[in-house]
Amino acid sequence: MKRSRLIKPLLDQHYPMISHGKGVYLYDKDGNKYLDASSGAVTASIGHGVQGVVEAIMEQAQKVAFVYRSQFTSEPAEELAEKLCSLSHDHFQWAFFVNSGTEATETAMKIALQHWQEQGQPLKTKVLSRWMSYHGITLGALSMSGHAGRRSRFVPLLEEFPSVSAPYCYRCPLQKSYPSCQLACAKELERIIKRIGTDHIAAFITEPIIGAAGAAVTPPDGYYEEIREICDKYNILWIADEVMTGIGRTGEMFAYEHWSVKPDIITLGKGLSAGYTPIAVTMATASVVEPILRGSKLIMSGHTLSANPLSAATALSVINYIEEHQLVKAAKKKGDYLIKALHHIQSQSRLIGDVRGKGLLIGIEIVKDKESKESFSPLMNITSQIVKKAQSKGLLLYPAQAGIDGIDGDAVMIAPPFTITDDEMEELLYLFTQTMVEVESELRS
Ligand code: PLP
Repeated sequence: MKRSRLIKPLLDQHYPMISHGKGVYLYDKDGNKYLDASSGAVTASIGHGVQGVVEAIMEQAQKVAFVYRSQFTSEPAEELAEKLCSLSHDHFQWAFFVNSGTEATETAMKIALQHWQEQGQPLKTKVLSRWMSYHGITLGALSMSGHAGRRSRFVPLLEEFPSVSAPYCYRCPLQKSYPSCQLACAKELERIIKRIGTDHIAAFITEPIIGAAGAAVTPPDGYYEEIREICDKYNILWIADEVMTGIGRTGEMFAYEHWSVKPDIITLGKGLSAGYTPIAVTMATASVVEPILRGSKLIMSGHTLSANPLSAATALSVINYIEEHQLVKAAKKKGDYLIKALHHIQSQSRLIGDVRGKGLLIGIEIVKDKESKESFSPLMNITSQIVKKAQSKGLLLYPAQAGIDGIDGDAVMIAPPFTITDDEMEELLYLFTQTMVEVESELRS
């Protein structure tokens, strides 16, 4: 076989070559069919090969694919910014387009720092974050990420931003239980702010529902209300990283809408274009941007391909498709159904410790012992065993992590396209059950 020159996540692993995709299925060159139950990396939220989106891309490419954002603006970029603000009911009034979730969280950090600089507070440079979090792969975004596995090789280059415990009730990092804990994990933020000094903290960043480092960890009622209050009390901006949860994935357009409070800055990526072309965005409220408008008028971020009309047109077409087919509502309904069915599978399984999440962002935590919640040794690579077994059956799962440090537990996520049909959900559940039964029996033998 010809040697591959492409650097892939694992250099020595064989990756099937995909020839095409349609709906929830991907097809490889060897004739295998895969049910994409993870939407890739929780991205392909309207499924593969949607004709209307393909046509919108072609139409825009024929008009103009690229203009440099420091010279021109374009109709699709303006329209997309307008659309996203209106989806937030004008809570967010500014949109800064980038090309990946990582760039969006970096931009969020910079906007937060500049917000304070322009008000004569240049010492406010820290962005607090939680353990069990993932905000992106560049050194700035990784500095905010509480994902020990992804940080470890670069620690000398990183800021020590993660410091707050995650609202991980299944195995509370503070060894308490809800509701008698009185939201101790949220209150920890206040203690840390006092310790570091409010003069140094620009923002607190959270994934509303924790993805890659936690597998759909969903905070208990009242958690974000407490966070909002603490941020307001100490003049700290709250950034919601909705790169994974945004644009309908959790059964609301934005995941923060599950609670009664709103963040100051939000990031979106992945589902924004459902993977059709690269685009992400950082959005901010008027009051976040106001001091910058009054001051330097310049946000020191951005990339050559920021706000390119091709990706903006793609995202507009994806959002139109989601609205036309009422897919946010569908994500909620289908998610409720899958979570219920997965709870049933959990009751028959010795390995499934927890099923959690909202809408079509569902996490399944795997444990060695359901009673004690003890994890398998990381050396056993249980997550990878499950994902590989599922793939051999034609089912794609997202390999997530769990555990208090975001690396010492096994988990997978089920996050199919919102367009998945009833029959396809049955196929997904059947293949997942078979996978778990076989992994369980192999572990016993
Ligand atoms: N933020 C969150 C919550 C994510 O889940 C991810 C990716 O998984 C990122 C940021 C980084 O996005 P990207 O991989 O597009 O750079």
